[in-house]
Amino acid sequence: MTELAPYAVTEANSRGRKITEAAPNTRSEFQRDRDRIIHSGAFRRLEYKTQVFVNHEGDLFRTRLTHSIEVAQIARSIARRLHLNEDLAEAISLAHDLGHTPFGHAGQEALNACMKDYGGFEHNLQSLRVVDLLEERYAEFDGLNLCFETREGILKHCSAGNAAQLGELGERFLKNRRPSLEAQIANFADEIAYNNHDVDDGLRSGLITLDQLATVPLVAAQLQEVRRAYPDLPERRVVHETVRRMINTLATDLIRQSERNIAAQAPATIEEVRSAPAMIAYSPGMDEQQRELKNFLRIHLYRHYRVLRMSAKAQRIISDLFGVFMADSRLLPPQSQHLADERDRARAVSDYIAGMTDRYAIREHRRIFAVEEIPASF
Ligand code: MG
Repeated sequence: MTELAPYAVTEANSRGRKITEAAPNTRSEFQRDRDRIIHSGAFRRLEYKTQVFVNHEGDLFRTRLTHSIEVAQIARSIARRLHLNEDLAEAISLAHDLGHTPFGHAGQEALNACMKDYGGFEHNLQSLRVVDLLEERYAEFDGLNLCFETREGILKHCSAGNAAQLGELGERFLKNRRPSLEAQIANFADEIAYNNHDVDDGLRSGLITLDQLATVPLVAAQLQEVRRAYPDLPERRVVHETVRRMINTLATDLIRQSERNIAAQAPATIEEVRSAPAMIAYSPGMDEQQRELKNFLRIHLYRHYRVLRMSAKAQRIISDLFGVFMADSRLLPPQSQHLADERDRARAVSDYIAGMTDRYAIREHRRIFAVEEIPASF
């Protein structure tokens, strides 16, 4: 690893773990965090959770698992280039979506509506709940006992009410401070990854077309260059070559502008990073261009009638399941039933549903609501 900048997060300036553990023998503390995340049950379930396209719609679409790996790849390259802690950026990226419900944003909205009177549901906070509490892999503690800086990076947004209950971790939302540069990078890497793979998946699904996308300046610039350089290239390769160049353009711009911002602020320590304005940023021009792409995707892909139909179905599945478990906790599997009866019923039901994969939720709904057809001869 190259020499880290003085304002990078390191083991020496880390605020450490909630429960003190012996230092690892053969890896850094942040490599240990990454490894714990990869071995968690929630990480494996990302394979069957989706954002836009529901898992059974096709094997080529991104899942949250492949998305998280793409985020980690982008975050690591940027962190390395900026002399920041690559292992931390990787750990945050791999963990950032662990708390996602089945069926992406539709699922999260449905669960939040169900939990309205019980403290609500925020997927970011749920990711933290997974690593702090819900994983059951260690004899000595609940959750994964990750370092403060990894947990800080996982918690991207948080309402003031929830932040007030999170102690040290929630402070920055109340005092308007920033997380580490590694966390800021993971956040941008998430956006770069999903905007570009949604373009790719959107085209593959046929819900959006290349002609429509050519009206978006960020796409048009790369698309024209590809078509000029390779006039006979088959359409699929035109798409892949264009998306590849878009990712590169965004990452390069982000690195250059962030280098300028860091030079201007000249932070000497991680604490100065936390009290300074955000330094990881696009240039103003690129910021405008990536907003236009997001806007395009929102209108033409996320609000496409076929996506909205699936979302409506997903929301019904989630609210049906929530309602039935709240009405009768005996229908829950034993572990969740115990938590529902002994502690907080709504939170136990919410944790159970949030942990489901898309296909598990569909099957669970069928198991509870579908009644076998009575044979005609009966
Ligand atoms: Mg994400």
